[in-house]
Amino acid sequence: MNHLDVQYINRIASLLDKFSVRRNNLYNFRCPYCGDSQKNKNKARGFLYQIKSDTAYKCHNCGKSTTFTRFLKDMNSNLYDEYIMERYKSGLTGKGSQTPDPKFEFDKPKFKVSIKLPKASTNPRASDYLKKRKINPANFYFAEKFKSFCNTLKPKCFTETKNDNPRIVIPLYNSEKELIGIQGRSLDSWVKPKYITIMISDSYEKVYGLDKIDRRLPIYVVEGPFDSTFINNSVALCGSDGNLRCLQGSDLIFVYDNEPRNKEIVDRIDRCISRGSKVVIWPNGIDDKDINDMVISGINIENVLSSNVYSGLQAKLKFNQWKKV
Ligand SMILES: [Zn+2]
Repeated sequence: MNHLDVQYINRIASLLDKFSVRRNNLYNFRCPYCGDSQKNKNKARGFLYQIKSDTAYKCHNCGKSTTFTRFLKDMNSNLYDEYIMERYKSGLTGKGSQTPDPKFEFDKPKFKVSIKLPKASTNPRASDYLKKRKINPANFYFAEKFKSFCNTLKPKCFTETKNDNPRIVIPLYNSEKELIGIQGRSLDSWVKPKYITIMISDSYEKVYGLDKIDRRLPIYVVEGPFDSTFINNSVALCGSDGNLRCLQGSDLIFVYDNEPRNKEIVDRIDRCISRGSKVVIWPNGIDDKDINDMVISGINIENVLSSNVYSGLQAKLKFNQWKKV
């Protein structure tokens, strides 16, 4: 099996029920075409297997048999577009191959996905919530049924949409200003989790604000998208599993919440200092626990940030004075 196929199989694995690697070049999961057995949820009779240097699909329940290219197209059209572009670059498309040539569009980004939702400013609840936090509601969207909306962006994103709730939708773009994912903030305190992050492709890193930064200047890395709207040249990590490979080589300054009694946050700052990164250690006399609260209290946040950046031994010293656990 070629590397590209293996890579794309791994990228769609999360969309496939009961996905497993049987052995080299043999993948097994529930057939997405027939649903395998409706009665027996353990049946998995769909297989991706090697055929010459390519990959084919076969279901031993419904008999569906197709090329990997076609299978990918049926599973996720955005990944399919990427895949045929990759094959095209390697000369593996067109006559005599299983993959058609990509269709080139002019003056338009290739994998453009856009948010077809009303702005948060048009919904009274979403608008009120954001304005109270001094955030411009025109910069965000509103989904009455968040999970159903996600399914329009990414097939099978949520298999269960019965208990769907309204959420403010925060768009995540890459530096080419293409939509790479969204984050949904619940409007009701009893709806958990408070934030849900959905990436259009699993290969994208969960980072907000990549479209607005200048990579030649220092970049603040904060905990949430709303916080980052108050700080010039900043990004937000969406989720604690956030990765920042896409910003490698940039001058990063990490900013965590001002919660010196929160073990999880304290540990995160500790690790940040240990790996040699620059970090903001909040000065004495600030009681607010995050950037948004500080802004609401009237604190000049950019001044506080820029005068409290530390690294190395100095960071350790300031950190030990700040932490209370
Ligand atoms: Zn089938």
